[in-house]
Amino acid sequence: MSPKEQKSEVDLFVVGGGINGCGIARDAAGRGLSVALAEMNDLASATSSASTKLFHGGLRYLEFFEVRLVREALKERETLLRAMPHISWPMRFVLPYHKDMRFEGNTPTSKILSLVMPWMRGRRPAWLIRFGLFLYDHLGGRKILPGTTTVDLAADPVGKPLQNRFAKAYEYSDCWIEDSRLVVLNARDAQARGAQIMTRTKVVSAERIDDVWHITTEDQSTKETQLTVARMLVNAGGPWVEEIIRNTARINSSEGVRLVRGSHIVTRKLFDHDKCYFFQGEDGRIIFAIPYETDFTLIGTTDADHEDASVKPQCTEAEADYLRAFASNYFKQPIPKDDIVWSYSGVRPLYDDGASSATAATRDYVLKVNQDGEAAPLLNIFGGKITTYRKLAESALEKITPFFPKAGPDWTAGVSLPGGDFPVDGVASLIQELRETYPFLDDFWARRLIRAYGTEARLILGDAKSIGDMGKAFAATLTEREIIWLMDKEYARTAEDVVWRRSRLGLRMSKAEIAELDTWMTNAGKDAGPMAKDEAPHIEAL
Ligand SMILES: Cc1cc2nc3c(=O)[nH]c(=O)nc-3n(C[C@H](O)[C@H](O)[C@H](O)COP(=O)(O)OP(=O)(O)OC[C@H]3O[C@@H](n4cnc5c(N)ncnc54)[C@H](O)[C@@H]3O)c2cc1C
Repeated sequence: MSPKEQKSEVDLFVVGGGINGCGIARDAAGRGLSVALAEMNDLASATSSASTKLFHGGLRYLEFFEVRLVREALKERETLLRAMPHISWPMRFVLPYHKDMRFEGNTPTSKILSLVMPWMRGRRPAWLIRFGLFLYDHLGGRKILPGTTTVDLAADPVGKPLQNRFAKAYEYSDCWIEDSRLVVLNARDAQARGAQIMTRTKVVSAERIDDVWHITTEDQSTKETQLTVARMLVNAGGPWVEEIIRNTARINSSEGVRLVRGSHIVTRKLFDHDKCYFFQGEDGRIIFAIPYETDFTLIGTTDADHEDASVKPQCTEAEADYLRAFASNYFKQPIPKDDIVWSYSGVRPLYDDGASSATAATRDYVLKVNQDGEAAPLLNIFGGKITTYRKLAESALEKITPFFPKAGPDWTAGVSLPGGDFPVDGVASLIQELRETYPFLDDFWARRLIRAYGTEARLILGDAKSIGDMGKAFAATLTEREIIWLMDKEYARTAEDVVWRRSRLGLRMSKAEIAELDTWMTNAGKDAGPMAKDEAPHIEAL
């Protein structure tokens, strides 16, 4: 290790560049605090790129009476949709009803039902599901999203791919979210508001010295170390939250995290409409089958305890078989193994509330301040959903601002993320305008750019008059201009960052094409750097 040099002094140092760390950094920077954030890999390289990608209330959490979480999440859906109509959009979910459908046996709802309706033996009557959906429609209030309807599966196109034993379904609303883009856009916005975002930078130690923290970070490529002095430390390490408490900050604490792995498979497209399915299994669990990236279907998720954050989660063969069998119980055509084109897995960093099963562990977030007398405070973040990240950040700031009396009030509700400064129903006209200005774009390419970058797509295309003006063409509509944007402004360093997190174009690229992009980026990377604060193009639009 090279000698430490004092690099900077900040109010707040955030460990972790997942959605929670980036959401908190953005909120805090917007209130006038000086903020630094360190992420040991790429932004969203852990759980925040491995979710089911839903802004949802979590219908099944009603079974656990997690009403606070469900209400907050339901309300949040439309606030978030308005702030990012490029990377989030409404979706309809079809829940096929069958009289034998079961939910998990140890939920509070199951226990009550087995007392009052013992003959049901864990099955759910249709009225109960309808009641749950009634609550779901009304708990959080809706202005944009349509409410629940009943669907005749024999007549509606959504019934076509399903087995004939399903006659009726309920259809309700939630929203899609491009999870890893959400993280990057929060990081960019935080930086535009003054935060320092350091990727590939690991926090190797955090030492409490009286009323400040001395934080040592290590650049993961050069191995150089730096010291930052901060008045408060925020531990948003996700699956590593406990490891950071015990081994990085070396604090004795009884707080624990429960690591629950969830895997997804991606198959070739299994049905020809844009609605999702919500399937109930015989084991009481639920999974989704979701239209994905135009030509694919996303199926997930599983729930399994995961022992060690340092073990990279992977979708096991048993999990992939389980998901295929589960969905094949509903679809007319069973899903063969070779329909799977990709799989991914992530670890939920849930607060350890001593729940008996991984499925039952609380999905709500828990924020704990650790402070002894006048010593510098530490805020530990446990749990949380992508859906509640903005509210989680506000709650975190509620714990942080007492230490910084000059910090501003809540501000993030109603403020667009970069590229999201257009109406919720404005995507189609943005695509059309883009195609008119840049006639060399086909529909797929224009749609992809608007969905990823919103109003900023034009900044990437600039003065291009033809494909040739976009620089080197890689594959699947990726060109040099876009890669340079991603490296300059969105912290991308490797092909993996680009094809699996800034986009999912890896689904359409060969190994050789990805390797070629990686080599190109390694060579180009020498000149690239993240956006300087005064270059932030979206800020005038806010
Ligand atoms: C399978 C699955 C499906 C899900 N589906 C949904 C869904 O549909 N909707 C929803 O709302 N939520 C969903 N979630 C929940 C949601 O994804 C997580 O709650 C959220 O992503 C957690 O974010 P985070 O920032 O806390 O953690 P992470 O994204 O894991 O971020 C923590 C970061 O800290 C970094 N880090 C750790 N230690 C250090 C260190 N010493 N120095 C520097 N950096 C460090 C890590 O590299 C990591 O990037 C799902 C979760 C899973 C696993």
